[in-house]
Amino acid sequence: MIDPGHGGADRGAVYGSAQESKIVLQIAQLLKNILEKNHQMEVSLTRENDRNLSLGERVRRAEKAETDLFISLHANAALDTRARGLEFFIQEPWKQTISETVIKENEYPSKKVEVDEILNDLKSQNRFHTSLKVSRILANNLSGHIKQGPFYVISKTKMPSVLIEVGFLSHAKEYLQLQNPTYQKTLAEKMAESIKQFCMASSHKYAKVGACEMMVDKKIN
Ligand SMILES: [Zn+2]
Repeated sequence: MIDPGHGGADRGAVYGSAQESKIVLQIAQLLKNILEKNHQMEVSLTRENDRNLSLGERVRRAEKAETDLFISLHANAALDTRARGLEFFIQEPWKQTISETVIKENEYPSKKVEVDEILNDLKSQNRFHTSLKVSRILANNLSGHIKQGPFYVISKTKMPSVLIEVGFLSHAKEYLQLQNPTYQKTLAEKMAESIKQFCMASSHKYAKVGACEMMVDKKIN
């Protein structure tokens, strides 16, 4: 699922004629088309047009569709006009939930609780590593940096997720590039290629990603 940030009255970063909400929608649509046509993946957008959509609704849509991979697109802006480049945000790493205090206070913690906590830990751990894995491929192909951030959509979704800041509207060159359809297409092509590489590298049961399985199946047939 691709999530173009902002929309409607919330235009995101605005610089002159450039609007973050419109630019990320254009890139999201290009990315969806490439993934569907070239890589036979099943792709949805959280919003298909210029409309308001709450952060909670974006997460609910991803959960409801049982999304395998969630990619949120944004454009950056900074007071320092020299700031440039792409950034890939993933959620904070999983935290150990079986706290020592619980075990100390209750000498015999319930087995059920313990097992559930371990399972949740493993799920979060897997999600974090899968998000990191796809981010590494993206950052490598698009020459960007991986960072961790408490963004709502990547923190609240349960599937592997990445928030991509596609460039700085406050940077003179990137301001022009990000509005250029040819540059947008290049970005989308590199993102699609990265997702394909991630799928090819993840076609084993540990990183079970349905969209990837579909692609691998087609290749074998
Ligand atoms: Zn944004």
